[in-house]
Amino acid sequence: MKKRYISALAAGAIVLAIGGMITYQTWPRTIEGPREPMELTLEFPAAPQNSEIRISQFSTGYNISPEALIYTGGNFFEQHQSVYSGFVVEHPRSTFILEGGIGTNIAREHAENFNFFYENLFAYTATETAKELLAANGKSQSDVDFIALTHLHWDHAAIIPDFLDTPILVTENELNAAREEAVENQSYFQEYLINPETEWEFLEFTDGPYGPFDKSKDMFGDRTVIAVPMAGHTAGSMGFVVTAASGKRYFFIGDTSWSIEAIKKAHPRLPFAENIVDHDVPMVHDQVWLLQQIMKANPDLMIVPTHDGNVVKQISAYPAFE
Ligand SMILES: [Zn+2]
Repeated sequence: MKKRYISALAAGAIVLAIGGMITYQTWPRTIEGPREPMELTLEFPAAPQNSEIRISQFSTGYNISPEALIYTGGNFFEQHQSVYSGFVVEHPRSTFILEGGIGTNIAREHAENFNFFYENLFAYTATETAKELLAANGKSQSDVDFIALTHLHWDHAAIIPDFLDTPILVTENELNAAREEAVENQSYFQEYLINPETEWEFLEFTDGPYGPFDKSKDMFGDRTVIAVPMAGHTAGSMGFVVTAASGKRYFFIGDTSWSIEAIKKAHPRLPFAENIVDHDVPMVHDQVWLLQQIMKANPDLMIVPTHDGNVVKQISAYPAFE
């Protein structure tokens, strides 16, 4: 009798502990402001009027999970689709892919680089790779001048082995930090970072401030594609502001947040997810808050988190362009 009483107590304690942990992880947290007061120009400079840019999106895979796992305060009963997306950007001077999702050998790469826990945590359904998509539309690697990646976590760098002759544009700091961290950090797959055949190109922020960002890079000198530093999620993450010929302006923010709803509410990721994926959690919080302010100050701007399926699908799917 006494034994049964003790095991009932133990079971109760376990239920309470699990309940407490879930409550702690998913409890809505709102980022109220930056750690230090900032004097910020939130409004972006006027968009260029003469852009000839065409833009198109594609998804190389996805996974579905309750929104409550994507950001704190998310709905437990709302299904969120996370996508491994990429964007084909055509500028009169060059065509490039921004992000790019997962590649042809992802099943092997996943199995070889992840332990059991991470393999299940980051389970995905693969659809069509960028390489396959281009081929299906009569294009090939040679039609892509370069690939720009916001950062080098596995789910972004996974496009690299499929485009070995195509320059990969990142910040130098990002590549150096990724190579260093890849030894222990499961978010990086070392094999994507050390292949001597990969041609790296480094983006330097040699231009002046852009809105609240203290430096930038006007990639074609015509203000149609502006790269801005967004370190936080990784050591050298960056974002891209792209103005299309249609006049629409997009802000590709990589993984600073996984969800536009989270940015609207300034809600961060769950603590356990932040600890796994973010390089500098307080810095990411500042940026999520900043994105909320940018969103309010630039109502015509479309903020695009790389993995938010609901946002990505609002852009024309390849081979259709905006
Ligand atoms: Zn990612």
